Order: sequence, then structure tokens, then C-alpha cells
Amino acid sequence: MNNRFTVRIVIAIAIALSGVVAYYARSSVNPVTGENQHISLTAEQETALGLNAAPQMAAQMGGNVPPDDPDAAFVRAVGERLVLKGDASRSPYHFDFHLLNDTRTINAFALPGGQVFITRGLLSRLKTEAQLAGVLGHEIGHVINRHGAEHLSKAELAGSLSIAVGVGASDGRGGSQAAYAISQVVSQMVQLKYSRSDELEADQYGLATLPRAGYDPSAMLGVMEILAKASAGGGQPEFMSSHPHPENRIEAIRAWLGKNYPGGVPGALTQGRSLRAGD
Ligand SMILES: [Zn+2]
Repeated sequence: MNNRFTVRIVIAIAIALSGVVAYYARSSVNPVTGENQHISLTAEQETALGLNAAPQMAAQMGGNVPPDDPDAAFVRAVGERLVLKGDASRSPYHFDFHLLNDTRTINAFALPGGQVFITRGLLSRLKTEAQLAGVLGHEIGHVINRHGAEHLSKAELAGSLSIAVGVGASDGRGGSQAAYAISQVVSQMVQLKYSRSDELEADQYGLATLPRAGYDPSAMLGVMEILAKASAGGGQPEFMSSHPHPENRIEAIRAWLGKNYPGGVPGALTQGRSLRAGD
């Protein structure tokens, strides 16, 4: 037996094993959906990341409307109802719902760990409470399905992020490293374009959750119409650029409604409050 050959084999096996170990170390089973995902952040790290990045994210769109503002309180109430009645209630995340002051940008988004945002620009275009629930339900779906964290893992930032978040969360040292990581997250999330399957998954979560909270899920179609109209009126809504493939989504929403409510949506499910006094 050649000694050098044996050593090489041993080294090769060690390298292969470490690759396999690294691969499985990055795998985690989603506690709500049961899906196996390649994410290196823990739920706690996602939460820390989201909480740390939230102020910077809010500042990009006019800042937070104060929590005692009636519109901000309404957004929060609808969001909390969806969390309480849906699968999000048994997730490891704590959800916060923010209304942002920007009246021109039409957008809604979520950070990993449960920080959810909607701009005044989008809220003012929605006609009913159920449509607001549709937007927020979709964003909760992104959090539950861990799309942001998946995206960050793909961007290969997650390794350094998890260290920085760990350091940043544990003590005052490593603050600049954590601050750098957070600015990276914010720029990643601003540029984030969800994939077609991410969008459909988030819609499915919204559709399944709306009826559980008493809302008519067909309101999701109304949201799509409003976004399409805003696009046609010049200027792509931000929501469309970060949440692409509207045509595909409308078809999937129709298919879901036809399958789950072949005889039409039950009358007990409501549109909720009307949001536009003028209509
Ligand atoms: Zn989306």
C-alpha cells in the first residue's frame, strides 16, 4: 500500500465530509411550512437583523407614521388580526406592522423576522380593509416562508451576517461590523426581487389566511387591479418591481378561489371597512 496515496485519500475524504457537513449545517426545516431550506440564519438572528435594519428601512420611505396615528393603528390592528388567526401565530417570529409616511411610493415589504411595512402611497389606493389584509397577508407570507433569509443566504452574506448579528446582539463590541452588516441587509432588501415561486407562495399564504381572519380572499384580486392601474398610470409602483409577475399571480389567485370556493366566496367573509370615503 502506497503511503502517500493513503494520505491523499484521507485528505479527500476529509474535504468531502467537511463539504457535506457545511451543506447540512445550512439546512433547516421551516417550523411552519415543514419545507427544508438552505438558510444559515436562525429565527433569532432573523429577528435581530429585522429589528436592527427596520429604522434604516423606514427612513428610506419617509419614516414611521407615529403609532398613535389612526391610520397607523388601523394597519397594526389588521396585521395583528392576521397573525393571531393564521399560521404566523405558531411561528417563532414577533410581528410589527409599520405605516410609512411616503405618499408617492406605492410599496409594502417585510424584513426577515417579522418587521412589515406599507407606505401611505399604497394604503391610500386601497379601497377596503380586506385589500389591506391581502397586502399584509402576502408580506406575512414572505416572513413565514423565510424568503428574505433565503435570499440573503443565496447572496452569500449570511455567514458574515450571522456572526455580525451575533456579535452585535451579544454586546457593545463589534458594533461597526454589525452596522456594516445591517447596511448590507438594507441594500439587499431594497434591491430584492422575489422569484416567481416566492410571490406565489406569499399569495397562497395570504389567500389561506384572509378567510381565517374573516376577510373575503377575493380582495387579493382587487389589490392586483389597483397595482396594475397604478402601473398603467405611468411610473412603475415599487411594489411591482420588488414583487414581479402580476399576470401570473392573478391566474394563480383565480385558480385558488375556484378550487377552494367553487360555489363562490361565502357571504360571511367580509370586505371590512371601506377605506375611501369618496368612492
Ligand atoms: Zn411579494
